[in-house]
Amino acid sequence: MPRPIRAHFDLAAWQHNLKVVRQRAPSSKVWAVVKANAYGHGLLRAARALGQADGFALLDLDEAVRLRDAGIHKPILLLEGYFDVRDWPLVEAHDLTVVVHSDAQLRMLEEARPERAFKVFLKVNSGMNRLGFTGQAVRAAFERLSTMPQVGTITLMTHFADADGPTGVAAQLRRFEEWTAGLAGPRSIANSAATLKFPESHADWVRPGIVLYGASPFPRAMPGWSAAELGLKPVMTLTTELIAIQSLAAGEGLGYGYRYVAPKAMRIGVVACGYADGYPRHAPAGIESGVPILVDGVRCRTIGRVAMDMMYVDLTPAPQAHVGSRVTLWGEGLPADEVGEACGTLSYEMFCALAARVPQTETT
Ligand SMILES: *Cc1c(COP(=O)(O)O)cnc(C)c1O
Repeated sequence: MPRPIRAHFDLAAWQHNLKVVRQRAPSSKVWAVVKANAYGHGLLRAARALGQADGFALLDLDEAVRLRDAGIHKPILLLEGYFDVRDWPLVEAHDLTVVVHSDAQLRMLEEARPERAFKVFLKVNSGMNRLGFTGQAVRAAFERLSTMPQVGTITLMTHFADADGPTGVAAQLRRFEEWTAGLAGPRSIANSAATLKFPESHADWVRPGIVLYGASPFPRAMPGWSAAELGLKPVMTLTTELIAIQSLAAGEGLGYGYRYVAPKAMRIGVVACGYADGYPRHAPAGIESGVPILVDGVRCRTIGRVAMDMMYVDLTPAPQAHVGSRVTLWGEGLPADEVGEACGTLSYEMFCALAARVPQTETT
């Protein structure tokens, strides 16, 4: 028998979350962002579940080719564009849409000799300061692209730095509009947070990622914007079982480094999940803090340091728990956002870190 840990994927939840996006941005087309193996959820599974999206956005040429090989004919957008002139044959053969964010990419594009012109997304750096052209350079790049026989359609895009936080999008949106004023072509601006919160940024294509997986892009300190309040459903649920129970006397230490010392006599459960499965090792381990975890549906908290293959739970709230009790790490019944916050990280990172060794199941 394999270890009892499982990542379960609810394909209907994916479709539901896409509908939530459509309701919020009814006039926009939707790029389903499926980079990083669909945020750890499985690229081809995501493409199957999100078949109603208008296109798929990701980074790796390899992943784009996998989608095409799986028979996906919808538009595919490479969010960082290309890295080398040797990428051109694959970009052309698979009809991929490419971001152009730098002078180096413009030069590479001039070297391409495609039979069909490329579809290009020109990236504007409106304040995130990661990728893209700024100020006057936006118009210059647009004009250069417009004269290239290698280029067919040009869409203008930008990306927000703090749509989920206190800064919002106004300043970036203003710069984007100013720098692209009068330039023809569709626009793509909004990530998940902006899709939900800033309808003025919806434009022609929205680019939601995390909401499709059923998590919220907003910090939990923002009331009204949790995944449940937004009507999102978790796609991934990570479950396992208790594989041992220990009784600690007051003052006894637990696990590596004795990071947890029992303040009283207590029952603890040993959970078949560790950092090699993708659970964050920097989850707090000491006496004050614990990360929420469900044991037979009862909310408990983790204690001690997460090890490679195992971690621990304080069974005080679940006295009936036994070897074989079902444990939920995150997902249905326990929002990944809440676990992420308690671990000092985000649902995004936890999803992406799901390890290949964890067996996967799905329901449609
Ligand atoms: C990852 C990414 C997105 C999606 O972001 P979410 O916060 O997951 O919605 C959209 N656009 C770009 C350029 C990205 O890199």
